[in-house]
Amino acid sequence: MITGSATTVDSLSWQEQLATSIRDPRELLQLLELDPELLEGALAGHGDFPLRVPAAYLQRIEKGNANDPLLRQVLPLGTELLDTPGYSTDPLEEQSSNPAPGLIHKYHGRVLLIVSPNCAINCRYCFRRHFPYGDNKPGRGEWQQALDYIAQDSSITEVIFSGGDPLAASDRQLQWLVEQLESIPHLKRLRIHTRLPVVIPDRITDNCLQWLGDNRFHTSMVIHSNHPNELDDSVDAALRRLKKSNVTLLNQTVLLAGINNAQDTLERLSERLFECGVLPYYLHQLDRISGAAHFAVSDQQARQLHQNLMTSLPGYLVPKLVRETPYAPHKVPL
Ligand SMILES: *Cc1c(COP(=O)(O)O)cnc(C)c1O
Ligand code: SF4
Repeated sequence: MITGSATTVDSLSWQEQLATSIRDPRELLQLLELDPELLEGALAGHGDFPLRVPAAYLQRIEKGNANDPLLRQVLPLGTELLDTPGYSTDPLEEQSSNPAPGLIHKYHGRVLLIVSPNCAINCRYCFRRHFPYGDNKPGRGEWQQALDYIAQDSSITEVIFSGGDPLAASDRQLQWLVEQLESIPHLKRLRIHTRLPVVIPDRITDNCLQWLGDNRFHTSMVIHSNHPNELDDSVDAALRRLKKSNVTLLNQTVLLAGINNAQDTLERLSERLFECGVLPYYLHQLDRISGAAHFAVSDQQARQLHQNLMTSLPGYLVPKLVRETPYAPHKVPL
């Protein structure tokens, strides 16, 4: 339990946990008893994309271990500032598939809604670290444009709540949006792409289960976990509650050098996910976003790892290895 900052996790609501996240690199290093020499790089990376990590996630990081696989996902580094050829600020060119505020329509039949620009955690490899969130956070009035767009295109059958992290929005807001969508007859499925159940499992409140479990859609949730150490008992409990509410649970992982590019780690991740009621869905090759080049795994190693997983695990525990490619009509298998 982290007690160095003002609070312990146990007594706090999810909103309070969000509000009291660690945002100061100095504090992070102190709480985790890390070498102060890491500070200079941490402050430099933090200046480009701020540090943000809630106490509930910090608890799962081993103290004194600069190579902890969870720490490496959140600790800013000076190397993030290096320019690497082939890496850019909008590698997916999503800004060209943005026909209404807060809506991205890139693939047939599915639209993404950027429901909340905020995240509970800032993942250093994030492909949205440079996305213009400010222009894409509609209020209630402005959602009408996105809702009209969906209503006018009967080929759209699935709406995906995305972000940022959609579960950073309030349940009241989310319930309102689900109700609006329920009145569009051609919609069949609702999907939530979120890292919050992994990062702050207390986010899965009764109110949350109500709008998620009690709507007319077939509802799925794609969580985002990269390492089995992320899936402790509190996360397991949250995922079980979701499953009991009839939400189909899937996981996406980003392949990250030094964090999960090892066969036994990926195997343990798949097995742990299944214990928690979740099926592996995608294993993503890193998006080539400036600041994240040091996480890249070669295509050759990615294919080899995937091949090995097919040999060692049942087929349903092997995620699809994909890369997102601008203008491709789907995520592209490697
Ligand atoms: C990943 C993604 C989707 C969903 O794709 P699936 O293959 O159905 O999981 C939809 N829209 C965008 C922009 C995406 O990046
Ligand atoms: S939670 Fe997802 S969207 Fe948010 S910073 Fe992490 S990877 Fe990016």
